[in-house]
Amino acid sequence: MHADALLCEECGWRGPLALRYDCPDCGYSLSVGYDYQAVSAQDVRDALCAARELWGFRLLLPLRDTKHKVSLHEGGTPLMKSTAIGKEHGVDLYFKDETRNPTCSFKDRPNTVGISVALELGASAVAIASTGNGAASLAAYAAKAGVPCRVFVPEQTSKRKVRQAVAHGAELVKAPGSYSDAFRMCKEACLQNGWANCTSTYLNPYTLEGDKTIAYEVCARMGGAPDWVIVPLGAGPMLAGIYKGFVELRAFGLVDRLPKMAGVQAANCSPITTAFEQGRDEVTPVEVFDTVAHAIADPLTGYERDGTRTLRCIRRSDGCGVSIPEYLIKDFAVLVARDEGIYIEASSAAAVAAVPLMRQRGFLSEGESVVAIITGHGLKD
Ligand SMILES: *Cc1c(COP(=O)(O)O)cnc(C)c1O
Ligand SMILES: [Zn+2]
Repeated sequence: MHADALLCEECGWRGPLALRYDCPDCGYSLSVGYDYQAVSAQDVRDALCAARELWGFRLLLPLRDTKHKVSLHEGGTPLMKSTAIGKEHGVDLYFKDETRNPTCSFKDRPNTVGISVALELGASAVAIASTGNGAASLAAYAAKAGVPCRVFVPEQTSKRKVRQAVAHGAELVKAPGSYSDAFRMCKEACLQNGWANCTSTYLNPYTLEGDKTIAYEVCARMGGAPDWVIVPLGAGPMLAGIYKGFVELRAFGLVDRLPKMAGVQAANCSPITTAFEQGRDEVTPVEVFDTVAHAIADPLTGYERDGTRTLRCIRRSDGCGVSIPEYLIKDFAVLVARDEGIYIEASSAAAVAAVPLMRQRGFLSEGESVVAIITGHGLKD
């Protein structure tokens, strides 16, 4: 295990690995730091070749002892070449099919790491604020580990995702209002009761480490980095995690360049992508209007700095933010099912719908390679 610190990228604070959710000096979200000098590039290369699932990358994950690992065999998902949509828009399009994870969304990646580290650091109960997928996922891992789990979801959450979480024995708390209300309630309850907070809005610093394994798998399959990665955004830790994964791979000499990161939100709830489109440096919270893409409907009220962290990552990568109108989200959910054979939820359709918009706006050029992250299964919506 080479993770050796929690870091604040805002003010430079550094401290030991702990169940800590913000910087004691400035209040910013934290990141996991590694002693990269102690990791051999050959070991990373071997892990890329050999890994069949997420924990195959354990040398770059923050768990000390594998006896604390809680796994349902997540990760190792296929990268599929588009047969229709890529050709139509003149790009080399791939789908990273995260619907194949144990609970049918990518959230199994952040959660397997989040809960394993929480248990290693002494937690005896876990909780999460979620738009549904994260709740269903954490509930499954908590069931596997035999620890109690509370899930906080906004009222609007898909019944199927709620049912999935409850089936795994989680205690359900429905927050009146938006995701931000569920976020606040979960945070307060965790502080009061000493539960480990596995919420993956950057709040739990370990969960992003699970997200970054998507980059390792893409690199292993493509033999390098694509030109673009398109990611649907809640607060955006998946985007930042994937970028971190590529930055690490470049440091080990396993990719020679970094991908540009495209962040995608539903136009009806788009604090981050609107800030990008308006050329702003700071993200401000928004009112949520109704969107079919519930899983990414995060107004960021009270933690807008998380959105700014994502916006900075997008800019650093020379990427872009794209707000997707409702009709395009719905069209692309149908197109991907009908023409590509993958049944996806609306939030994932937004990532694919970004392809023609990025072409029109000149971000994406003819013939470029682009990986769209298919984050969740259509059966869950
Ligand atoms: C959570 C979620 C996202 C957003 O990921 P973040 O890392 O929270 O930004 C996208 N798509 C689906 C289906 C999700 O469940
Ligand atoms: Zn700080």
